[in-house]
Amino acid sequence: ALTIGIVGLPNVGKSTLFNALTRNQVLAANYPFATIEPNVGVVNLPDPRLQQLADIFGSQRLLPAPVSFVDIAGIVKGASEGEGLGNKFLANIREAEAIAQVVRVFDDPDVIHVDGKVDPRSDMETINTELILADLQTIENAIPRIEKEVKIKKRDAAELAAIKAAQAVLERGDTVFSSIKSDKLEMEHLKELSLLTAKPFIYVFNADEGILGSPEKQDELRAMVAPADAIFLDAKLESDLVELDEEEAREMLEMNGQDESGLDQLARVGFHTLGLQTYLTAGPKETRAWTIHQGDTAPQAAGVIHSDFQRGFIKAEVVSFHDLIEAGSMAEAKSRGKVRIEGKEYVMADGDVVEFRFNV
Ligand code: GDP
Repeated sequence: ALTIGIVGLPNVGKSTLFNALTRNQVLAANYPFATIEPNVGVVNLPDPRLQQLADIFGSQRLLPAPVSFVDIAGIVKGASEGEGLGNKFLANIREAEAIAQVVRVFDDPDVIHVDGKVDPRSDMETINTELILADLQTIENAIPRIEKEVKIKKRDAAELAAIKAAQAVLERGDTVFSSIKSDKLEMEHLKELSLLTAKPFIYVFNADEGILGSPEKQDELRAMVAPADAIFLDAKLESDLVELDEEEAREMLEMNGQDESGLDQLARVGFHTLGLQTYLTAGPKETRAWTIHQGDTAPQAAGVIHSDFQRGFIKAEVVSFHDLIEAGSMAEAKSRGKVRIEGKEYVMADGDVVEFRFNV
């Protein structure tokens, strides 16, 4: 469910990036019980806190939070009208929670560009236009039904107003996300339509050294896509990196002037874009990060481990990561009064170290 769909024009490096994501096999080994679909690539959310906790608890293994990506075929002009993979493709994106759009900014005369030249602004426009046209279609199809429901008072008129506002945004060529993401209520009204452009966007610029080494050029591209997030990586380098061991990979990154791999960036930014956070559990067996939404309560957080934990929730024993590290042990944190007992209403904070009490 928490997947990010990868889209982009043909030949921009989507498959190269996706291969890097799927060959990142360390992850699959960590999650033996998870079925990983062939078109899903997983990357760990980098989190140095896990090792620190594992040291305190003597944990045998670390389980970081996974972020999943789903490969969706390339978009060509006319996709919204059923050209190319058309509708099937659109159905695939509809299921993703966010969209990562791969944009080619690397120069390479050997790699043909579908439109003949490398022009990120025009490429993004092509893709976004197709998504916008698809959303307009969705709205036009829905409006008669929604108007009827408002008339017979089965539905709030505010919902119809929100849908019409989104229609106006799309008609002037903007994406819903970049125009009204700050309006929570309006976004809530639009939810049932699953509009493609209402999903959070991440722009993944597939770059060469010329851009990776130039903060100015990156800022220019960043400004083009704001308020959406942007990341810069070299897809080819990423697919080489996953073949190396940790040490070698770090050296290769350093040689390229980067301090973090593109996949790690992708996981971090993706996590942020999706409005997620993690809480932690730790013991002698494992230290693990669990993914929850910002604003989730303690029972909701417990439900991520097991639905029984949510149903039978009694209380949570919570210590912040920072307090626990400062104390150096759970016993010391307790004697300092840093371990709190929290109830059903407690809103989780990022980095809470938790033990749940529940009835089964
Ligand atoms: P897709 O159609 O978007 O999936 O694109 P591919 O991943 O198949 O890449 C198209 C071509 O571009 C392939 O020949 C890749 O080797 C090449 N390519 C992908 N990423 C890069 C990159 O970062 N730099 C360069 N120079 N070539 C790349």
